[in-house]
Amino acid sequence: MSRTNRKVAATLREPAELVAHGFAPAADLPDLEKVAARYAVAVTPDIAALIDASDPNDPIARQFIPTPAELVAEENENPDPIGDHVHSPVAGIVHRYPDRVLLKLVHVCAVYCRFCFRREMVGPGKPTALSQAAYDAALDYIRAHPEVWEVILTGGDPLMLSPRRLTEIMADLAGIDHVRIIRIHTRVPVADPARVTREMVAALRVAGATTWVALHANHASELTDRARAACAAMVDAGIPMVSQSVLLRGVNDNVAALEALMRAFVECRIKPYYLHHGDLAPGTAHLRTTLEQGQELMRALRGRVSGLCQPDYVLDIPGGHGKSPVGPNYLSPSNSFSPERERRAETRYRVVDYCGDVHLYPPKP
Ligand code: SF4
Repeated sequence: MSRTNRKVAATLREPAELVAHGFAPAADLPDLEKVAARYAVAVTPDIAALIDASDPNDPIARQFIPTPAELVAEENENPDPIGDHVHSPVAGIVHRYPDRVLLKLVHVCAVYCRFCFRREMVGPGKPTALSQAAYDAALDYIRAHPEVWEVILTGGDPLMLSPRRLTEIMADLAGIDHVRIIRIHTRVPVADPARVTREMVAALRVAGATTWVALHANHASELTDRARAACAAMVDAGIPMVSQSVLLRGVNDNVAALEALMRAFVECRIKPYYLHHGDLAPGTAHLRTTLEQGQELMRALRGRVSGLCQPDYVLDIPGGHGKSPVGPNYLSPSNSFSPERERRAETRYRVVDYCGDVHLYPPKP
């Protein structure tokens, strides 16, 4: 089948535009209008250019083009699936773990992911930014908590702010003695790499604190030449980068796709950090895998790529209980082995190698 990629001049935000450009069937338009009334839609020209409109299973389209399936909410889904609200002492702050806080500055993104865990909170219909008074109160909260070593700018996408505003914010945060790390979570380098200008890169560096950037991407094709150049500009400026991806059905739920993605990150000098299990956000069941599938994929990935390319597979526990690695586990007690063999070797553990073969390990070092 020949690819049908479309050039668009500006970000597509309306279902009718998606239909007009061949990204969604006309018959779905009434349902897509209902989806868009609830969850924001945006497909940038860079992302649109990656979509093969002739492929009904295109992995980029599945991430960004709304579908009627989003109107179906499952019983366990939750508008606040990772429990931000219970850990929000003041507007814009989420203080879930002792040594770090989220600072949610903006509620807009360059693109809107159909699986977004904050889909009820992001988008043009929501408050667009913290007011100055709320921002001041958020900084006061951080100042009053000397245990906060790391501030994570998220939202929304912090790189939607102007370089000038980001410069001010970075200076405010770096001016707090105990804040040593500022981490910025963004999808902009892949969704709208032109925003990563020289001024933007300069804004991310600040005296008094170390900046890290966490890039969200889920498929190797998102790492285009333009995206790679945007990331290189940050890394060349001395900003270390890590990756965040979400395990998504029909996007990266096969080992070849995950391998290509992780290799692409490492080629870009981005250390794979997290592979998130899909959160229980409303209307996203069609994009989630099972935990068992995720574990099996991680096992297969370990057999194919080096440790540099291994992310942690993590689950955000619903209710705000934080992230936990969810395997797979390679070590277990050896009780199932024969008593004679165990007596002779005093083995206590079974450990599985990258090929899936089992080996014994003694109890004492
Ligand atoms: S970029 Fe992040 S916050 Fe924005 S829509 Fe995607 S997942 Fe949600």
